[in-house]
Amino acid sequence: MKITAYALHRLHLKLPRPIGDSQVRFVDHWMTVLELTTGDGLTGVGFELQQGKPTPALAQLQSQFEYNVWPGLQGATPFGETLRIARPRGGNVGSATLPLAVETALWDLVGKAVGLPLYRLFGGTDPQVRAYASTLDFHLSDGEFRARLDAFKAMGFRAVKVKVGHADIRWDLRRLAIVYEVFGRGVDLMVDANEAWSPKEALYRAHRYRDEGFDLYWIEDPISREDYQGYARLADIPFTRINTGEYLGFSGKRRLLEAGGVDVLNIHDQIGVARAAAQLAGDFGIPVALGNTLLEIGVHLAASLPECLCMEYSDLEWNRLAKEPVRFEGGYAFAPERPGHGIELDRDALNRYSDPG
Ligand SMILES: [Mg+2]
Repeated sequence: MKITAYALHRLHLKLPRPIGDSQVRFVDHWMTVLELTTGDGLTGVGFELQQGKPTPALAQLQSQFEYNVWPGLQGATPFGETLRIARPRGGNVGSATLPLAVETALWDLVGKAVGLPLYRLFGGTDPQVRAYASTLDFHLSDGEFRARLDAFKAMGFRAVKVKVGHADIRWDLRRLAIVYEVFGRGVDLMVDANEAWSPKEALYRAHRYRDEGFDLYWIEDPISREDYQGYARLADIPFTRINTGEYLGFSGKRRLLEAGGVDVLNIHDQIGVARAAAQLAGDFGIPVALGNTLLEIGVHLAASLPECLCMEYSDLEWNRLAKEPVRFEGGYAFAPERPGHGIELDRDALNRYSDPG
């Protein structure tokens, strides 16, 4: 089974509402979709996202891909490509073109070649994963925020993550109160500050939220990603958990674990490195959780790992690209049983969002 052809698509998805946090605000998603085809007619699909600025025009994406990626893929077998352990050094660090799209498409091909959904290929036995609703709400009014919560409640979610980190702590407290109004106090409530605070401010806010009656399941990314000492201080807080790691590469995650600075390690992005990070976390006795993944493909990773607490769901526009998106029901995600990642492109949607630039 050899790779013989590829296709790239440049997409522009206008979001129905602004998403973001205490640091960023986005109203567009630019996505690159990669299709890899084998000589025996299988097609693997991968995705890459850019927020905050448009991707280069399709012609430029294509010439970069032709120059940097295609010579290594043409005629290659997907099995070897997915399992190779790379050791980037020097100028090779971080230089890959569309690494996530390429890896996702390759795993999709491997799953299809052996006739297994990815979660089973990775050794999982149960397609069901606990999921939490994530509102990405920092730029929404209270009314819009409440409407998002109502919609997630109607879908059956019993765990919710909301944005905090407003300069005025009363804003944070009001939003947390709205969550309790909609879901009741039984909800697993998580907050994400997206690095808004100093360690001291994070300690203060954690205590204030608790003193005001909010029982937080976790606090996510309270301080700068590489402040391992600061994270070690925060992980000592006994009444909540610290979730971080989202913004760190593999080495950063290792240093975080070594520092004792995390209670729930946030993994996502590329499957290979996420699996390695999850295994490393397990060695420290630390569970993992998955942040948002494109078209929710991370459900396969989550369903295959022994200590994955839950995965994030934000009901984003990218799910409109799937003929049959990953199913979320009753507060759980269900990994598709189709071979590969199981996400087949809806050609009408692909054409609708297509923007060669
Ligand atoms: Mg986050």
